[in-house]
Amino acid sequence: MPAERRYGGIDWFRMAAAFLIIAIHTSPLDSVNAEADFFFTRVLARIAVPFFFMTTGFFVLSDRKKSHQFLKKTGLLYAAATVLYLPIHIYAGNWEGEPALFALLKDILFDGTFYHLWYLPAVLIGVLIFGPLVRKFGIEGIFPAAIALYLIGLLGDSYYGLGQSIPFFQELYQGIFWFSDYTRNGLFFAPVFLLLGAAVALFERKPSPRLDFIGLVVSFGLMTAEAFWLRSLKWPRHDSMYIMLVPCMYFLFRLLLIPKIGAPKSFRSMSLLIYLLHPAAILMVRFFAKLVNLESVCIDNGIVYFLMVTLLTLVLSYGLLWIGESWKSRPKSKTKPRKNTERTWAEVNLSHLAHNVRECRKRLPSQCRLMAVVKADAYGHGGVVCARHLRKQGVTAFAVATLEEGIRLRRCGIKGEILILGYTSPERAAKLQQYQFLQTVVDYEHAVELDKTGFALNVHIKIDTGMHRLGEDGQNFSRICNMFSMKHLQIKGIYTHLCWSNSKEQKAVEFTQLQIQRFYQLLDRLQRAGIKLPDIHMQSSYGMLHYPKLQCDYARIGIALYGALPLSERDVFLPVLEWKSRIVLVREIAAGESLGYDCGFTAPKPMRIGIVSAGYADGVPRSLSFGRGQVLIQGQRASILGAVCMDQMAVDLTHLPSAVRGSVVTLVGRDGEQEISAAECAQRSGSIANELLSRLGSRVKRFPIS
Ligand SMILES: *Cc1c(COP(=O)(O)O)cnc(C)c1O
Repeated sequence: MPAERRYGGIDWFRMAAAFLIIAIHTSPLDSVNAEADFFFTRVLARIAVPFFFMTTGFFVLSDRKKSHQFLKKTGLLYAAATVLYLPIHIYAGNWEGEPALFALLKDILFDGTFYHLWYLPAVLIGVLIFGPLVRKFGIEGIFPAAIALYLIGLLGDSYYGLGQSIPFFQELYQGIFWFSDYTRNGLFFAPVFLLLGAAVALFERKPSPRLDFIGLVVSFGLMTAEAFWLRSLKWPRHDSMYIMLVPCMYFLFRLLLIPKIGAPKSFRSMSLLIYLLHPAAILMVRFFAKLVNLESVCIDNGIVYFLMVTLLTLVLSYGLLWIGESWKSRPKSKTKPRKNTERTWAEVNLSHLAHNVRECRKRLPSQCRLMAVVKADAYGHGGVVCARHLRKQGVTAFAVATLEEGIRLRRCGIKGEILILGYTSPERAAKLQQYQFLQTVVDYEHAVELDKTGFALNVHIKIDTGMHRLGEDGQNFSRICNMFSMKHLQIKGIYTHLCWSNSKEQKAVEFTQLQIQRFYQLLDRLQRAGIKLPDIHMQSSYGMLHYPKLQCDYARIGIALYGALPLSERDVFLPVLEWKSRIVLVREIAAGESLGYDCGFTAPKPMRIGIVSAGYADGVPRSLSFGRGQVLIQGQRASILGAVCMDQMAVDLTHLPSAVRGSVVTLVGRDGEQEISAAECAQRSGSIANELLSRLGSRVKRFPIS
């Protein structure tokens, strides 16, 4: 199960590999020492491209759907890159002496439509041919074929001289080079590394750092020797393929899976952009050098050349990335009334949810994972829809309040960790095991009872550090210790809940610090007693906002994800939910007429009244009655008049002569310049946004938008 920060090592290496590819094409050490440059660009940097093949093998090859997505995306990318580079390719004279159509086909399929672009058709052809084969015959079944192809490739690459004394090989390779300028392509080069990546993913043995490290050092040493030996024999026709490159890549890739570090998400796109754009940067630097007559400085000095190209590539790549990001997050047309006929509904903005995930991650230390709290139907936003979208953002840990909420998510296909925050009766232990939940142990007796059921259960121990709600008292050290040796309980986590972290008042801060201190002291004692600590967590949304530096493995984030923090905290988290209804009837009432149950409101003047089709059964707090609550209509505020009824309420339209039947009413959300946040609406009713949102009625249909 890929966890969100599990592939940090790979993501960092993507960037390193991208720079190595720039080095291959700029030969930075050339002006210093030819041997050093050979080692750097023809030996060391040769690990870059196989690494990218392996990531594709690792992440997509054995999965049909992912392979198709990959082919589609990479195909489009190749087409775009071709549009950019093909004219230069032809201008540079690459098609001279060959029929244009033949040259085009050959370039598109094998050689690439610019010199560096060979990689894209290679990975496309590799996945296209070997994806289905792997899925049909298994990796072991098809691996010999990939090896055989690689051997053929070797004899056309760095072992070229070896075969050339034999007439059969001469003819064979003449044939091969008729349709492809190199054997370093999708047929002979890509398959073995694609399969190697898939193999690492499939036979997921735990990497053994020492062995893998020794393996890497030895195989890289041998590869270096191999490369220099071949060079001295003058065998290479080209120098991409070595025998020792294969074991070298295997060990390297396994090592990269070990570090559990975070990597900026942008690294994936950045490394790709660097690869795609650096030849453009090369052209620009050369053009510029020629223009100002500084070729001796900028080009002939390999290091300056490399640095200039790298810098320009980075600028171009960041620029493009930035343009892409701003295009993605461009303001979408707001509050356009949905073409629905619902009497009241909620719009759930999934891009805001994704934005809030990013904002949370920015605030948390890199090793701390986001546990998305999706209890109470994701605070009324729709649990399944939100959990699905959160998974797309790489969230793999969820928290719910009850067993039923968890089961519902699992039945809708939500994978990953699901922690049940509340008490679950031991009689339901079978379900806990069946659905692979993490159950909270609410105190020592609960642990004993769960253990007695005999089901192998994964649990998180909850510790009471002062809230006195759920949790074993943190001072009962021996009882807590005992839980770790219970036969059927796997202790996967230990956590506490901060109950006053929302306030920055001195008393609140002191109390929170006391809770934190108690928790850490307990963890310390456990460690000293020889217990290996499981995952620890204590922050919820406010804990994250006010105590972001705490070193934990998770933060359990609810309300911040939904962007429903009080006004003072509402700077960067975007509200996910907007709640709307309609006017279903407009009437005029004369001065002195009264309105609603108990004739609770009397008009002081002639008034225009709108009846809105939402009431307390939909979740409108009844405490908003008699003018305490407001709604938005046509970008303006309107007060609630009289008592909120079960299914309707009345609002004042006197100042809104153009509001008619069907006009949209915003109970929570933005309309034009005006906004009523969930926090404001809740505050007017004497509550908090959490309550307002989680009580949103089942009659309010949720519409996901993005
Ligand atoms: C609900 C809940 C959370 C989430 O709290 P927010 O303030 O909404 O982030 C975290 N932990 C526990 C134990 C909870 O019950």
